[in-house]
Amino acid sequence: MAFTWSTLKNLFSKPATKNYPAEPIKYPERSRGHIEIDIEDCISCSMCARSCPTGAITVDRKELTWAINRFDCLACGYCVIKCPKKCLHLVPGYQTPEGEKKEVSFKRPAPAPKPAAAPSAAPKAAGSASAAGKATLNGDIVTMANGKTMDLSKFPAEKKAEILKKLGLDAAPAPKAEAEGKATLEGDIVRLPNGKTMDLSKLPEANREKVLQKLGLK
Ligand code: SF4
Ligand code: SF4
Repeated sequence: MAFTWSTLKNLFSKPATKNYPAEPIKYPERSRGHIEIDIEDCISCSMCARSCPTGAITVDRKELTWAINRFDCLACGYCVIKCPKKCLHLVPGYQTPEGEKKEVSFKRPAPAPKPAAAPSAAPKAAGSASAAGKATLNGDIVTMANGKTMDLSKFPAEKKAEILKKLGLDAAPAPKAEAEGKATLEGDIVRLPNGKTMDLSKLPEANREKVLQKLGLK
């Protein structure tokens, strides 16, 4: 009786099979499908290749290629999770049947060449000769090409020598009197025979006179 009922039901109902390929197949919800890549967004980091459990992905950073062997892919989606640029996707639809196992390769466009760095608009610091243009040295006072001055007496000897070298002033001849063992006066700066300097502008007037007299500069 049950058999008769099944026969009659099948006779009057639609066929259970799909009319594929005459009708396009409808993939079931949550089917994994296959991997596709937005190759323009790929940065060739190889995270996908390293995380693939079957080694289906090959990334060539030099050739800018990304390749997948679809026969080795399990559609596990792990590469999709790992891709930092989110350029891999699991797309519905199964791979096209092939006669042999081969990789599908994608080549990303070469990055545009970087524009040449614009020359710096203005010298940043007075620390280099180019920044300063043609600097001049007067005692311990360096006058830059832009009119700014720097008092080298505030720097330790090493730093001072370094600055002078950078400014191309390291070969500056010592004043004649200094070479002869006498102190010299340049503005408010006294240069002693031992090379040390003294800024008189910091002293009260009475002391300044005394120092000048003592040094034979008055
Ligand atoms: S889906 Fe899984 S098996 Fe396929 S390429 Fe990605 S990580 Fe590898
Ligand atoms: S993880 Fe993403 S960005 Fe990195 S190589 Fe793979 S596809 Fe390209």
